Amino acid sequence: MGERYDIIRGDYLYTGGELRAGLALAVDPARGAIVRVAPPEQLYGPGLGEEHVLAGRLLLPGCVNAHSHAFQVLLRGRADDAPSFRHWVDEHMYPLVLRLDDEDLETAMLLAFSEMARSGITAVGEFFYLHRQPDGGRRAEATELDELVIRTARRVGLRVALVRALYDQGGAPARARFREQPAEAIAAVRRLHARYRDDPFVRVLPAPHSLHGASVDLIVRAHALAAELRTRMHIHLAEQRHDVEFARERLGATPLRALEALGVVDRWLTVVHGCWLDREEWELLGAQGGGLAYNPLANMFLGDGITDLEAAVRAGVVVGLGCDGPGGNNSVDPFAEMRTAELLQRVSKHRMGVLVQAAAGRLGPCPVFTMASRGSAELLGFGAGELEAGQAADLIAVDYSEPALAPHHGLDTRALLNNLVHTGATRSWLTDVVVGGRFVVRERRLVTLEAAELRERLGRYERNALAAGGA
Ligand SMILES: [Zn+2]
Repeated sequence: MGERYDIIRGDYLYTGGELRAGLALAVDPARGAIVRVAPPEQLYGPGLGEEHVLAGRLLLPGCVNAHSHAFQVLLRGRADDAPSFRHWVDEHMYPLVLRLDDEDLETAMLLAFSEMARSGITAVGEFFYLHRQPDGGRRAEATELDELVIRTARRVGLRVALVRALYDQGGAPARARFREQPAEAIAAVRRLHARYRDDPFVRVLPAPHSLHGASVDLIVRAHALAAELRTRMHIHLAEQRHDVEFARERLGATPLRALEALGVVDRWLTVVHGCWLDREEWELLGAQGGGLAYNPLANMFLGDGITDLEAAVRAGVVVGLGCDGPGGNNSVDPFAEMRTAELLQRVSKHRMGVLVQAAAGRLGPCPVFTMASRGSAELLGFGAGELEAGQAADLIAVDYSEPALAPHHGLDTRALLNNLVHTGATRSWLTDVVVGGRFVVRERRLVTLEAAELRERLGRYERNALAAGGA
């Protein structure tokens, strides 16, 4: 380790599926990666920069939010009782889309991303679909707003995958902000990807929005681009029950079978939601190495349905967890998503231990935690989610003396992880969040963004929105 490196250590480290004492991380701050995991005395040397000792803490890999629409945070509280998902979209989400200017967007992103950081998220997959002006006019460059998202996430300190939505269908006025010609959309992804190719903190993925938002032509082109760039393609699929009917009517098959007929079901495919996929579709997706970005709380909030996560896990689908739009969920807490993912299987299958049994040891002692860390990271193309050499130095620190986590049965790994997931007290024990070796949250305080700036921006947004009659 001749290069400069920092050391980060707590009392215990979660590595290789268990909590271990006496290990420290050596981190290359330039690459944001872990270079070695070893007892601290073996790590001291001439290249040592800073040493961060987090006494009384245990260190876990950070959570990765596999699916987000951060700007939707501005709907929170306002659209909660819409009579249906359609109303939620037409009467709340689309009007918001039509009036957000760049400053509003940046405010929304700062709010959502800082909440993510404060709840233990170190990387986010931002599925982003605003590409044009509010009136549908072209921007000077088709990727300006994508750049705004990346810049804002990086300012808060998160690793960010810009899951760039591709949209060429639909006549609703708001969709004029999303729609592009297929060639133009593909070129934009290609350009962004090239720009960030060497940045370990940024990924760019193509994402045809859905079967109703993207044409067959665009889906096929996006898949070809994903395979060429060796990255995954994300697509909303089978979120609502009527998505199945839509696929049957338009494409003559159920949603995943329709994608199969297009030749795009393989290791480059990640489906978002999948509430209405049947068992054979899960087996097809798993056999091809496909992924699922699962958002259980949003699916409940929006009345979508319950994804058969047990079938997905049994089939070997790569599963990650996300919070979806915080306006279709109202919380940003990966541990709440983990808990909900687990409990929905129990209540729908009428038994306990569903996911542990389905995973048969493949997903460590706590399958939902592995999904929210390693699983989500894999779906976004980050080498993260494990505290091992070569992986991202993205981690969270836990105050394991917090009474909400007691008893932990002598720091039994499974018991401790289960308590993190099921006691619902994330903010009480989460003390530090580190991305790429840099502290984003230190002793419970977000250090990358002044609270006063965020409050001032939010105040301005509220005043302007109220004055425009659209708050
Ligand atoms: Zn979504």
